[in-house]
Amino acid sequence: MNIILLGAPGAGKGTQASRITETYGMPHISTGDIFRAHMKAETPVGIIAKSYIDKGQLVPDDITCEIVESRLAQDDCRKNGYMLDGFPRTIPQAEMLDGIEQIDAVINIDVDMSLLMDRLCGRRVCKSCGESYHVSRLNGSNTCEKCGGELFQRKDDNPETVSSRLQVYTAQTAPLIAYYTKKGLLINVQGGGTPDEVFVQVREKLDALNK
Ligand code: ADP
Ligand code: ZN
Repeated sequence: MNIILLGAPGAGKGTQASRITETYGMPHISTGDIFRAHMKAETPVGIIAKSYIDKGQLVPDDITCEIVESRLAQDDCRKNGYMLDGFPRTIPQAEMLDGIEQIDAVINIDVDMSLLMDRLCGRRVCKSCGESYHVSRLNGSNTCEKCGGELFQRKDDNPETVSSRLQVYTAQTAPLIAYYTKKGLLINVQGGGTPDEVFVQVREKLDALNK
């Protein structure tokens, strides 16, 4: 099964993606994670990506598409399928993907815009395993419940950058909902609940597809 996870920043894509890939045994391809790895290693792609990501803008389509194409060509994606998290994010990216891959389902995690600002600005992420937490649930703790790793705040999770990311989402990514609806691939899931509540819905829908 080849799956796309769609949703605004803060909709909970990363959290659901980890659960889906653990449950169904498929690689988790997050363009955000790939860019962050490049930035950390200060590769040429990382240096370019940083200049966009720090401002809350999208990395240009040509760079992003090239990274995804080469990731999808790896062996682990050619077995049980894969889960794309954070790609496509623009119509041209979706068109590129259409040209090279067959997608089975697009899961859209739907969350009220008013919730997103708080979720993103309060987000803390585990340095080791990538799990996300909300600061209000941590009671001052700075360690990951899953692996004991140290938590940090992403540089692009500050109010200014977050509001620009949400604007970019509305202008460039939200049109993908109509795009995939037209293709009959869209599956809507209500993302306002807890990660477990959201995952129950995701699982039901994916199990129904698998039958
Ligand atoms: P979030 O979904 O929380 O905004 P991600 O970790 O998916 O965060 O992405 C972080 C940043 O990386 C984005 O704000 C954007 O600048 C860049 N990025 C990730 N995926 C893409 C993509 N498909 N196209 C362009 N830029 C991307
Ligand atoms: Zn962890």
